[in-house]
Amino acid sequence: MISFDLQYFQPNTIEDAINIYEQFISENKKPIYASGGTEIISRARRNEVQPDAIIDLKNIPGFHKCEHKAGKLQIGSAVTLNHAATHSNFPLLKTVIQSIATQTARNKITIGGNLASSLPYREAVLPLLLTDSTIVLATPKGAITKNIHDVFPFNEHLKELELMMEVHLDSKLIKHPHFWIKKTKQSQINYPIVSVAAMHIDNEIRIATSGLTANPLRMKQLEKDILQAVEIEDCLDQIESYLPSPIIDDMIAQSDYRLFLFKQIIKDIAINWKGAS
Ligand SMILES: Cc1cc2nc3c(=O)[nH]c(=O)nc-3n(C[C@H](O)[C@H](O)[C@H](O)COP(=O)(O)OP(=O)(O)OC[C@H]3O[C@@H](n4cnc5c(N)ncnc54)[C@H](O)[C@@H]3O)c2cc1C
Repeated sequence: MISFDLQYFQPNTIEDAINIYEQFISENKKPIYASGGTEIISRARRNEVQPDAIIDLKNIPGFHKCEHKAGKLQIGSAVTLNHAATHSNFPLLKTVIQSIATQTARNKITIGGNLASSLPYREAVLPLLLTDSTIVLATPKGAITKNIHDVFPFNEHLKELELMMEVHLDSKLIKHPHFWIKKTKQSQINYPIVSVAAMHIDNEIRIATSGLTANPLRMKQLEKDILQAVEIEDCLDQIESYLPSPIIDDMIAQSDYRLFLFKQIIKDIAINWKGAS
């Protein structure tokens, strides 16, 4: 049960969504956007968030598209994880998504909600970081497009009235060889101790990881150093230096263990792929 009063809106247009948001802000009240609503509702039940209004974006046409058009894979922010896994035709995205929550929860959880989640994991972003996706944002002045690396993590870089409309990425990239591994404490359906996605694109090894730090990361310096290293151990010995601190240390796993697993995974990727570069 949610123990406080709030207003619920389901606008049919982006303009209406932004207007409602703006109206609440002007009254010094707290509005919040929702896509699948699973995280907001469970956080509101625990009183971790107390919005005055929930603005549900599900009814906005276009937020549900998942298609290849003009050489781009375009995924609307209200597309559910299951829909994206089935219709994107992007093997790595499908694999990563199928490890998030349960089949039933994935029918509700959306791409937009996963990317803008307050949790550190946000695993659906990993394939999008590897493919240098762009994000289409709705703003009061119209739609703008930004590189994912400039707006991620969203909850730090989105301005107050910006909301995520779509993710775009180059359709040509989706079939490149990929690698993915998720280590969890118990069952496979669980938050990651560490989750690593990698792609071999032309002469590059691209690596992104989640579970180690406050946000998922694209590891561009590590990618470069692995390719140039004569001995891969030179990179592995200083693996911590590639990561911002702190490394997550909680009931799921200690930071040393997370780092140990990460190191092993990077070693496997390098051994398997370096020869092929
Ligand atoms: C059982 C279970 C298991 C899970 N396991 C995993 C896991 O293994 N790995 C993992 O990564 N995640 C996992 N999650 C977390 C889940 O991916 C996130 O909680 C996600 O935020 C839920 O998506 P949603 O669409 O319901 O989000 P919502 O509740 O709608 O929104 C979440 C946040 O995103 C913001 N937001 C939503 N849409 C937009 C938008 N278009 N523009 C701007 N901001 C927006 C909201 O304001 C809110 O702050 C799990 C969740 C559950 C319930």
